[in-house]
Amino acid sequence: MDVQSEFRVGKAGQYWAVFRGAHRVSPTYVRHEEAEDRRQRLARRAASKMRPCISCSALFRSEGPHHRMCPGCRTKSASADWMSREVL
Ligand SMILES: [Zn+2]
Repeated sequence: MDVQSEFRVGKAGQYWAVFRGAHRVSPTYVRHEEAEDRRQRLARRAASKMRPCISCSALFRSEGPHHRMCPGCRTKSASADWMSREVL
């Protein structure tokens, strides 16, 4: 079964929340769109896998085949234009 389809938005009292099976896995939200947004993020995260970074080999949580660099290396490559400065 597709792990992303295990998540659904449902009523929690008078509010909305994300459920995985019978368990609520998010805070409650007044607006349905907020719960839906949370559902998508939780589903993406559940579907992600630990992979080694193509640059430094550190294990990190990858969202898919397009996502092969750890957050540290991504930040470094994104800030390569700023190498002459110290960015902390
Ligand atoms: Zn890396």
